[in-house]
Amino acid sequence: MTAHRCHRDDRCARWETDPATGHRAGASIEAEHGLCATCTRHLHQALDALPRDYLDLQMCLSASITGDAETVRGTPEPPLPLRVDVLAVQADITHEVLCWAEPVADTLGITLDTQAARDSRPGVVVQRCTRLLRSSVPVLLSLRAVEQLGWVHGCAVVTCRDGLDGALALIELHHRARAVTGLTRYIHRMTAPCPRCEAAALRRPDGSDTITCDHCGRVYTWDEYRDLCEVYVRWHERLAAA
Ligand SMILES: [Zn+2]
Ligand SMILES: [Zn+2]
Repeated sequence: MTAHRCHRDDRCARWETDPATGHRAGASIEAEHGLCATCTRHLHQALDALPRDYLDLQMCLSASITGDAETVRGTPEPPLPLRVDVLAVQADITHEVLCWAEPVADTLGITLDTQAARDSRPGVVVQRCTRLLRSSVPVLLSLRAVEQLGWVHGCAVVTCRDGLDGALALIELHHRARAVTGLTRYIHRMTAPCPRCEAAALRRPDGSDTITCDHCGRVYTWDEYRDLCEVYVRWHERLAAA
């Protein structure tokens, strides 16, 4: 008998090696189609987080428009592609939550006024839809062959997807939003001191190839930094031994 497996397949949080194929596969589950308990929890977390993600993306957008020095300082990317990135994730979140809130509302016999929803501010739509989805996860997961209108390269196409595909898409969107907002915001503070001035003032903006010392202004490449750190450590070991 073949085991039923979590629909997230090789991306399942508790993936296993399938003995039949030797490849990564979703955790075995009882139901024929479904998510394992951990991936279901990830879906809950994603639905809880998406309204906040949407607002965080909005903050990134405002920051890149006003050229907020703190958020984009030192990152090699110009602000424009960043903004397109942010807009794309926002649009995908709005599209995806509406795609699934509508059939879930239908199944539950609830009226989701989609026209009013589409007319109101997208942040509100995301909040309203995710609240419904969050309280109806089993309904979402049980949806089969839902026809939806999507866009591929500017052309309208009808796609047919299961609620499980929606669940995966929603989890991925949460990760994508995190990746995009993290990119603009994250500045890693290095714990090691600057090999030149010894100040604990090294920072590396996420996605950057260089490390900058805020104290002496020296810019290091990763290789330089690693080599200098080794020299620094050896020098201190010698001092300690003397
Ligand atoms: Zn799983
Ligand atoms: Zn320095």
